[in-house]
Amino acid sequence: MTKRVIIIGSGIAGLAAAYNLREHQSSSASGAFEIVLLEKKDAPGGNIKTEKIDGFLIEGGPDCFLSEKPWAWELCKRLGLQASLLQTNEVAKKTFVLSKGRLHELPEGVILMVPTRIMPLAFSGLISIPGKIRMALELFIPKRKETGDESLGGFVTRRLGKEALDKIAEPLVAGVHAGDPATMSVRSSFPKFVQLEEEHGSLIRGMIKRMALMKKTQKPGSPLPGQKLTMFITLKEGLSHLINTLTERILAAGNTAIRTGAAVTGVLEKQGKFEVGIEGAPSMTADAVIIAAPAYAAAKTLAGLDAELAEKLLAIPYVSTATVSIAFKKKDIVRPLSGFGFVIPRTEGRKIMAATWSSVKWSHRAPDDSVLVRCFVGGAKNAELVNLGDADMIKMVRAELEDIMGIDAEPVLVKVYRWINSMPQYTIGHDERIAEIERRCARYPGLFLTGSAYHGIGIADSVRNAEITAKKVLHFLAGRQPASR
Ligand SMILES: Cc1cc2nc3c(=O)[nH]c(=O)nc-3n(C[C@H](O)[C@H](O)[C@H](O)COP(=O)(O)OP(=O)(O)OC[C@H]3O[C@@H](n4cnc5c(N)ncnc54)[C@H](O)[C@@H]3O)c2cc1C
Repeated sequence: MTKRVIIIGSGIAGLAAAYNLREHQSSSASGAFEIVLLEKKDAPGGNIKTEKIDGFLIEGGPDCFLSEKPWAWELCKRLGLQASLLQTNEVAKKTFVLSKGRLHELPEGVILMVPTRIMPLAFSGLISIPGKIRMALELFIPKRKETGDESLGGFVTRRLGKEALDKIAEPLVAGVHAGDPATMSVRSSFPKFVQLEEEHGSLIRGMIKRMALMKKTQKPGSPLPGQKLTMFITLKEGLSHLINTLTERILAAGNTAIRTGAAVTGVLEKQGKFEVGIEGAPSMTADAVIIAAPAYAAAKTLAGLDAELAEKLLAIPYVSTATVSIAFKKKDIVRPLSGFGFVIPRTEGRKIMAATWSSVKWSHRAPDDSVLVRCFVGGAKNAELVNLGDADMIKMVRAELEDIMGIDAEPVLVKVYRWINSMPQYTIGHDERIAEIERRCARYPGLFLTGSAYHGIGIADSVRNAEITAKKVLHFLAGRQPASR
């Protein structure tokens, strides 16, 4: 009898785990094994969903990955998708921040909330003069002595001041993590900042040194040889191209199945194996199980096996968001879209968190005579807005765009995507919680957890952690004899 690995959830994490298992199988001593991916929804991809409608390319969920974290583009390269990688349009690299009802350019040189150039910050209308002085004083603020975790809000206020938190860090973080800096763990969400403070005593000094070093060292195996890598990177055909290619390759490898519409109800241990219950279908037995579903779904499936583990998994909170993609004729746009979009500080009291000017940020997103804008709704502070019906949500988004960008024209296309409980939040103490979860999970050899809930929320980190998990599974299988079932 061949061994069987069941993967629960076929988002990018589940698919990347399956692909890696097949990729490295021959060089491991795992022997032959079958893979079955069980997916609750009617298609693989999880949060990743690209749609092509009337000449527009719309990303319902994520629209890119961070190039600095190489694991997603490396996977694309291994899949032969290198020619499909797409950089952002650098001519329009600006990001705007709404302040007192007006869009201000985020000063050039501000990298992930840390200023690295004096002049653009000095001349920026976004931050007040006392706020700018306070930011510059960061160079002289001593390192934190305590070693425990700290909130992102506390960290940024301590180092760069309250105005930098309110006008830069909070809206940027809300736009990416949909999170609340008051409860987010800086160590788990932005470990680099903590490292910069520890190593250089200052974020500004550390960031400048890091940038100089990056300029000198050419990244090995760059995805786009000869081109300077932009901060964000995507695929010309949208991120579903990655999902579709992964799916094809996994199935082509043989002895692998993806069952959609297969919601896992529980995982139990039975005679040294796992019994995986599936809603409305016979249960399946497996030698190893990878749970690549969100932490709360993992908790539900593991409740019968280990109530304490389930409880710990439930302690990872999630927030809901929605994206509303809305297209207009170019001639109806009164103010030019001269950047990637804007973020909105909470203090502005608006209903949307951010908007990406998708057809400016990326090529191949809209017909030549149109523009595509993508608005973010919900998140940690405005979760209830995600429950608005489509008509009310579209009305709300249009009113916001009219106020902020002066667009009062009829859209040519609108699409709403809701992502309920889709963004894990790394709140204070996250690292300790994950260490406990992993200790508890290790009681069940052959049971593995992966996905964005644990060691990094983005696509690149999800791919990396899936690869690490796949290696552990192969190692586990190598030490396991096939058993009859
Ligand atoms: C609106 C939005 C925008 C984002 N933008 C970006 C971005 O631009 N860049 C970036 O890097 N990241 C972004 N992210 C984060 C990114 O989506 C995640 O990092 C990544 O998709 C997580 O993948 P995953 O496989 O861990 O989880 P998921 O994509 O959530 O996949 C989990 C899968 O498990 C399935 N499942 C759940 N329960 C069960 C069950 N009981 N049985 C079987 N299957 C089950 C689900 O149906 C789902 O398919 C964004 C997220 C959202 C919501």
